Amino acid sequence: MKIEQEFKDLRPVTKQNIMELVSQAGIDTSDWGNFAGKYAASNPKYCYNWSFEDLVENVIAVNLWYDRIKLIDGEILCEFNPRLINSDNVRKQRVKHLDRSIAKAFKCRIPLRVILLGKEEGSKRPDYRALDSKYWYVHSYDDNGNCKIVRDKSQQEFVDQFTYIDTNIEPPSKAESTASSYRRSRVVREQVLLRAQGYCEYCNAKGFITKVGSVYLESHHIIPLSEGGDDDLKNVIALCPNHHREAHYSEEAVQLRNAFFKKIERKSSWVESELSK
Ligand SMILES: [Zn+2]
Ligand SMILES: [Zn+2]
Repeated sequence: MKIEQEFKDLRPVTKQNIMELVSQAGIDTSDWGNFAGKYAASNPKYCYNWSFEDLVENVIAVNLWYDRIKLIDGEILCEFNPRLINSDNVRKQRVKHLDRSIAKAFKCRIPLRVILLGKEEGSKRPDYRALDSKYWYVHSYDDNGNCKIVRDKSQQEFVDQFTYIDTNIEPPSKAESTASSYRRSRVVREQVLLRAQGYCEYCNAKGFITKVGSVYLESHHIIPLSEGGDDDLKNVIALCPNHHREAHYSEEAVQLRNAFFKKIERKSSWVESELSK
């Protein structure tokens, strides 16, 4: 589909309630029901917020006015600063929450789900809402709160063997395209690649530069998923291709597991402390 058409089609025309959309985005909304009111969807603790987080599942969703997004050079994006939104005392909390969600998404490289809002002329509240099916990515965020969010295009400076498959840069090789690869969380892999900053987390060798200019490392589950290993930051390591093959085929494979855990212990606690802010 032409990007111009896609941009037009993003204008929300449905009246879905926010809790439904947040839940569709993959965020646990079971706590919305914990209040004295009749309808979970109108729980004031959540329903007026402009951003929503589920840090167990690593999902962050934000509200964006359709009128604020733009189509520039074939990219759909939104540049804004939540801190500059005119806010009274009540809205201040929502602004703060939105600002923090965007900062988290940027620092920990969590892709955003976006709920687009639209309104009738003269209306002050959102009359229409829709969840975009594509991910958005925070490309920049500075200390003053200025941010740039781009639809369907990750920063992609760091890639692994699966990103290559995901983006169809290369056809998947037989060995790597098994069903199990789909159980892996892309978000975890992206966070691990960000944590590694392009250097093998075991030997510190720099990953090679790909044809499209990104840095290549391979992500690896220290305890394989098939042995009950977790799909989280503490069990995934970014390795140079050599060490990745060694991790699987070397006679030292078992000793390597322990060495890997030691190497990433301190680093993953950094990402976790960023997430809990
Ligand atoms: Zn290495
Ligand atoms: Zn592996």
